[in-house]
Amino acid sequence: MSQYFPPGSKLGVMGSGQLGRMFAIEARRLGYGVHVFSPEADSPTAQVADREWVAEYDDLAAIEEFARSVSAITFEFENVPAASTDVAQKFTCVDPCVDILHLSQNRNREKSSLAGMGIPVPKFVPIHDQEDLIRAVEELGRPSVLKTATGGYDGKGQMMIREETDLDEVWREYAGRESILEEFIEFELELSVVGARGRQGDFAACGPIQNEHRNHILDVSILPADVPTEIAQQAVEITRTVMNEVGVVGVLCIEFFLTRNGRLLVNELAPRPHNSGHLTIDACETCQFEQQVRAIAGLPLGRFDHIRPAAMANLLGEEWEFGEPDWAEMGRQFPAVKLHLYGKHEARAGRKMGHLTCVAETTQEAASQVLNARELLTARYR
Ligand code: AMP
Repeated sequence: MSQYFPPGSKLGVMGSGQLGRMFAIEARRLGYGVHVFSPEADSPTAQVADREWVAEYDDLAAIEEFARSVSAITFEFENVPAASTDVAQKFTCVDPCVDILHLSQNRNREKSSLAGMGIPVPKFVPIHDQEDLIRAVEELGRPSVLKTATGGYDGKGQMMIREETDLDEVWREYAGRESILEEFIEFELELSVVGARGRQGDFAACGPIQNEHRNHILDVSILPADVPTEIAQQAVEITRTVMNEVGVVGVLCIEFFLTRNGRLLVNELAPRPHNSGHLTIDACETCQFEQQVRAIAGLPLGRFDHIRPAAMANLLGEEWEFGEPDWAEMGRQFPAVKLHLYGKHEARAGRKMGHLTCVAETTQEAASQVLNARELLTARYR
């Protein structure tokens, strides 16, 4: 099977949210056709794709047809069933590789694989039954953080075990679900690096990016992060190591904690573009979605350096609570702020609807612009 697919070829993406949409926009800009596969019709990705395949992720007959229709398949999320990627691989190129999907689908597997590569992670204990939980809380102490091993994102399936937490009550909620207990990290900062790796093993990285979460959901990111050069280099080297060790072709984001005593610990992997990397569209020579296209198409990677300091603020469904946000007034008062909307028809609390980006002389200036612009969106309703 040829490993270079020139513009004009068709690329497939599984998953049809905003990450697939921004991938599709870049792919089409480079002259590729895009097919999207997901259970939803008229999705954010389908609105900008050439062809929409609507079927369940475990519909193997549909997966086969989809795979036969494209030169390569990539993902916007990591929880695609293994049976489906196995079928897809028989008919087309699937990247990033199934190994990294398998590893990042389960937090226990992810943390033990990273530890096996010599990469620092928070202390953790796999939990299968209540006995495990009781012993793990004794070992890691309180506070500690209990997470389901699979399927959790944006803080879902996650709980703090505090001094007063009753473990019997906790177990009633977690029984039957493989979980992980992690030590609670008093971090100074949260960081991420977006790495890209091509078919020839070439590597490029953007970051670290500095991230702030609200209610476990990413709220604001700035680039470059305010960290010493050695920390920045170490974060990039960890990303390179993981991508090389697992042989990832495509984009992979690593989320880190920087502890108060200056240690970097890996929190999580995402083998795809990441919310914290959205600012690369406006801030970098090549954005994370173009890198994903280039990598899976077998093109050389682009330069991933940022041109100017930048900030991004997420727009969640809450911004629509009282009506349509005031885009026109925002545009008048903040001409440097760029608006990205994902084409979602229904705004629900906590749902990612879009984001704002700004590039400026400093990250502080960029952050203040996106935050003030976001504030203004709902000002007329207050
Ligand atoms: P996750 O879903 O694992 O990315 O967690 C979402 C957010 O919860 C992280 O970005 C942190 O802000 C917080 N968090 C997760 N794990 C820990 C931990 N072990 N210690 C402290 N905070 C955590």
